[in-house]
Amino acid sequence: MMNRAYNFNPGPAALPLPVLEAVQAEFVNFKGTGMSIVEMSHRGKDYEAVHNHAKEMLYKLMSIPSDYEVLFLQGGASLQFAMVPLNFLAPGKTANYILTGSWSEKALKEAEKLGGTFVGGSSEDRNYSYIPELGRLQIDPDHAYVHITSNNTIFGTQWHEFPDTKGVPLVADMSSDILSRPIDINKFALIYAGAQKNLGPAGVTVVIIRRDLMEQANDKIPTMLKYTTHANANSLYNTPPTFAIYLLAKVLDWVGQLGGVEAVLAQNKAKAKLLYDAIDESGGFYVGHAEPGSRSLMNVTFTLADKELEAKFLEEAKAKGFVGIGGHRSVGGCRASIYNAVPMEACEALRDFMKEFRSRN
Ligand SMILES: *Cc1c(COP(=O)(O)O)cnc(C)c1O
Repeated sequence: MMNRAYNFNPGPAALPLPVLEAVQAEFVNFKGTGMSIVEMSHRGKDYEAVHNHAKEMLYKLMSIPSDYEVLFLQGGASLQFAMVPLNFLAPGKTANYILTGSWSEKALKEAEKLGGTFVGGSSEDRNYSYIPELGRLQIDPDHAYVHITSNNTIFGTQWHEFPDTKGVPLVADMSSDILSRPIDINKFALIYAGAQKNLGPAGVTVVIIRRDLMEQANDKIPTMLKYTTHANANSLYNTPPTFAIYLLAKVLDWVGQLGGVEAVLAQNKAKAKLLYDAIDESGGFYVGHAEPGSRSLMNVTFTLADKELEAKFLEEAKAKGFVGIGGHRSVGGCRASIYNAVPMEACEALRDFMKEFRSRN
């Protein structure tokens, strides 16, 4: 494993070692061109093949129907917080935001600047430790769209079922769990995800959008902020983040070689189980933040019942080479981000450390 760290970073996060090695091997002379992928025109055939391959692989791996567009944008998931309401929150209309953590709050805040909003469900009352019951969500057929965050990176909760919005377009921020499990794309009108957790490096944002919704968008907005601009140009309206898309293509090939999202899900479940079992079997030594029915397979959040021991745990974990275990500054505690590319061995090592630390203390 040539000194690879046990990388539990929340994002940017671990990438598959075979991907990094493949990139390294062809970096200075990409396919006999005598240059690297980042030194060539985005309009040339060599780059375009990579770009189109990334797109095709997303359609294939995620079973995206042909009435959806796949876009490669910039500005991160954070720009999507604004682009969604700019395009789809018409004057006089109301957008529905389900609040399950800090990222959904941020998305709501952008929509509030641009039009009417409504909070159709929230788990703020118990510090975002659960996903609201589907049957209790308030959704009006007249809402412009319903926005959810499928995985709450900071609090460690994840939607395991999605609401039936009865025809109201469902928009999901899937930044931290895209491609981690099979998803029925037909339930969604728009999905967006910054790449730096499960898909590749920072710099590209994947958007999957149903064409009929896209075509109803507000026309009086800046060209670069319109989904149609990018859809009509195969995401080559302006210079795309070529290196990020190239790496995305490699990560997608890697997922394909593993056996696709079904295989990835099985692996993710096994990895998460190791850590949740270590929490559940600790007799209250480790305390999980998320309620069991809402637990994330991507971000395992926990605290230690004894705060002094928690500081010691984090310090020792760091000394042992576990990277990125500290909880987000807004919630504290510990968080292990175990995205697709985090190997099983890293989770086993952390599980062993958690057990060993507990028996010693
Ligand atoms: C990381 C993250 C974001 C922010 O992404 P940027 O690409 O940095 O804007 C938004 N939503 C979720 C769920 C995230 O995990």
